[in-house]
Amino acid sequence: MSQSYVIVGDGIAGASAAETLREEEPDADITIITDEGEPLYNRILIKEFAKGKLPEAPISIHDESWYDDRDVDLELDTLVTDIDPEGHTVTAHDGTEYDYDKLLLAVGGTPTQLPVENSDAEGIHHFWTFQDARDIKEHIEGADNSVVIGAGLLGIDLAAITAAQEVEGKYLMRGKAWWRYALSEEGAEIIHEALRERDVEPVFDSGVDHFEVDENDRVTTAVDPNGDRYDADFVGIAIGLNFNTEILGGTDIEYDNGIYTDEFMRTNHEDIFAAGDITEFHDLILGDRAQNGAWGSAKEQGTIAAKNMVDYGSEEFRWVSSYSITHFDFPFLSFGHPTLGDDHVEAKYSDTEWRRLAIKDGKIVGGVLIGDLSPQTKYKKLMREQVDVSGQKEVLVKQDFQLDDLEGAAAEQ
Ligand SMILES: Cc1cc2nc3c(=O)[nH]c(=O)nc-3n(C[C@H](O)[C@H](O)[C@H](O)COP(=O)(O)OP(=O)(O)OC[C@H]3O[C@@H](n4cnc5c(N)ncnc54)[C@H](O)[C@@H]3O)c2cc1C
Repeated sequence: MSQSYVIVGDGIAGASAAETLREEEPDADITIITDEGEPLYNRILIKEFAKGKLPEAPISIHDESWYDDRDVDLELDTLVTDIDPEGHTVTAHDGTEYDYDKLLLAVGGTPTQLPVENSDAEGIHHFWTFQDARDIKEHIEGADNSVVIGAGLLGIDLAAITAAQEVEGKYLMRGKAWWRYALSEEGAEIIHEALRERDVEPVFDSGVDHFEVDENDRVTTAVDPNGDRYDADFVGIAIGLNFNTEILGGTDIEYDNGIYTDEFMRTNHEDIFAAGDITEFHDLILGDRAQNGAWGSAKEQGTIAAKNMVDYGSEEFRWVSSYSITHFDFPFLSFGHPTLGDDHVEAKYSDTEWRRLAIKDGKIVGGVLIGDLSPQTKYKKLMREQVDVSGQKEVLVKQDFQLDDLEGAAAEQ
């Protein structure tokens, strides 16, 4: 009898799982359920659409015929609300039940709302879906001034959108540096300067206390905790994700921030797997639980989950994730877990070239490279192979660092 697989979520994790399942099991029944109204698109590129630099078409990855051609049932506009692990069913918002032999949860996250007065006013945007990008584009094109909140990887996309659309902007940040958990003030200043050149002014030790609105409930002003007021008819907020764990309510599937999985992407239930941003997976490199928020990692987890749904234990997830930013004249890349670690080393080489490595128990666990990305392969290799670099921090950040600059075991890599 053929197996039936149900996948919840048609992002890159769910869609790559469907593709792998079909390759591995030509006769299986495969259903993929998404609450979005369109099949897989490139979430990484929606910012380029909102900037006005790309039309819609190249952002779509699969059209509905992709699923038909592979005999995969695609359920659009369908929100899964319940899981019954014992009965092996999931239930959608309209009461439809889907039976499964094996289930994959690839449900990602939803942008966190800012818990302040008027944060649901017209003109305030969060950013995760293609539809969000359409709304943002339509609004920013007619905006006069903007405020962006959220000093991280998605916040800077919003700031870059305001810059590309030539709308003067303020970028309100807590602390004194963009992405202060991964960059020092010296490294972040390269980003600040690039923003200023594009008419986006970083405002430090700020944030939002509340928004003011007009008689039509449209945002007019952001007021920060210091009482400073910033006029804005466009506001973009990116302060993090709430992972979509609410469908686990009433089950005993283990989760905290995300769903717990082992290195084979299996949950504590034999027939339930998870993949993508939603997972808190057992990271073999870190030797600990970890969560990634990156496209490449989600894709790989989808593929690995599918292989293990077919044949548990066949392939483990072992991956150094990376995330690049392409808004500026210089390249930017973060890899691994740059905000973790008990130690770090950094160096600045020029006005647009800087590096920082995060180190835990003598091993590289992540880093940020600005300007010159060429050493990334070496650092990722040291990280993947868990090479002990204790006592050799300064060697690591030599501008033309080579692996054989390292002494001892590390030099033999
Ligand atoms: C603007 C933006 C820019 C980004 N830029 C980069 C970048 O440059 N580099 C990079 O590596 N990463 C980037 N990312 C992050 C990257 O896109 C994500 O890490 C990746 O898309 C995660 O894929 P996923 O499949 O795990 O989750 P998602 O893509 O979030 O997909 C989950 C899907 O499940 C659906 N869903 C959730 N709950 C239910 C339910 N109960 N029932 C049915 N469907 C449900 C959701 O609607 C969604 O369609 C960016 C993200 C955004 C938003």
